[in-house]
Amino acid sequence: MIEIKQIGIIKSKFNESTDPFVMKKEVSTVEIDKSFEEGLYKIEMAEYIDIVFHFDRAEDYSLRGPVYDGTEKGVFASRSPKRPNAIGVSTVKLLKRDGNKLYVSGLDALNNTPVIDVKTTDSSWFSKDGKQMKDGFYKSNPRWDLAKMIKNNQLEDLMLEAAKIHGHFCPGLAMGILSGTKAMNQIMQLSDGLEDLVLITETNNCMTDGLQLVTGCSFGNNALIFKDLGKNAFSLVKRNGKGLRIIGKNNSRDFLRSKHPEFYELFQKVVVEKNHNEELALKMKKAGIEASFGLLELPFEEIFTISDVQVELPPYAPIHDSIVCEKCNELTMASRITQEHGKNVCFACAGKDFGYMDGYGIPCSK
Ligand SMILES: [Zn+2]
Ligand SMILES: [Zn+2]
Repeated sequence: MIEIKQIGIIKSKFNESTDPFVMKKEVSTVEIDKSFEEGLYKIEMAEYIDIVFHFDRAEDYSLRGPVYDGTEKGVFASRSPKRPNAIGVSTVKLLKRDGNKLYVSGLDALNNTPVIDVKTTDSSWFSKDGKQMKDGFYKSNPRWDLAKMIKNNQLEDLMLEAAKIHGHFCPGLAMGILSGTKAMNQIMQLSDGLEDLVLITETNNCMTDGLQLVTGCSFGNNALIFKDLGKNAFSLVKRNGKGLRIIGKNNSRDFLRSKHPEFYELFQKVVVEKNHNEELALKMKKAGIEASFGLLELPFEEIFTISDVQVELPPYAPIHDSIVCEKCNELTMASRITQEHGKNVCFACAGKDFGYMDGYGIPCSK
């Protein structure tokens, strides 16, 4: 028999279960019962404290189930409120103490949640600026920040991230961000780059870079399938082939043009007509930034159509051995080795056709 005393109560502006990321941004108050106030002596010295509380409104637990991002985890491997003992722990920043009241940020507990304990955070895990803890965290959750941005629909932040690979801001990239974020929030599964979430893109234009960033399905992790169909369309599917397809509406081009005519006029001159005037190019770049960030604010339904799909996925990509080509002496994937007079030779040395993709698309051969 374990007996636990309530020592206080949490006051927060949230009365109903809300996205924890949203809750953590707000300031909450932890009110300690007057009879326990003495126990707060010198707590102001701490920058971070742990609040232990009772999930008094949690539903019945299950030992295994989907967590917020749609992936399945055991209850002890998650922060789910539905636990055998409905106890929550949050590390929060202590902003101010006023008598028996602690003002904190980073607390994801509902209004009137009973408090069980308060303690200072074990800071031995923090090095100077929490770097050690942070690094450890990101090593097991490399896409955490992006997942947060997707969940909160922080499209501008995602676009800034995508431009790190894309190199510039353009409406195409913005279309990838807008549609990719929509798809991710519908499908509720994060990619760990192991082909359990697969992106099938039907274009190799700017949009696909936005999609790679948001979905985490990329050229390098084999979770990207490219169908060279020249459509502003993609499907995002789970391993069972179930998912959704999003395609740009036929009138989306005209719609986007009407929103930012200046950019499209400059684009015509600089890119289509290859007018390499420096001043014009600079103007286009600026207009491009405006047009692409502006696009993020347009309603998804004006630009895209979304539908459910069921596709047949190829099995997980095989892992091949590597063999040294006996002509160029370069290590080559076994499936790209051919036999020439009994020797292992790579496709390049053998003059054999190999798959080839460039800005023109796929079905060229070199
Ligand atoms: Zn672009
Ligand atoms: Zn070779």
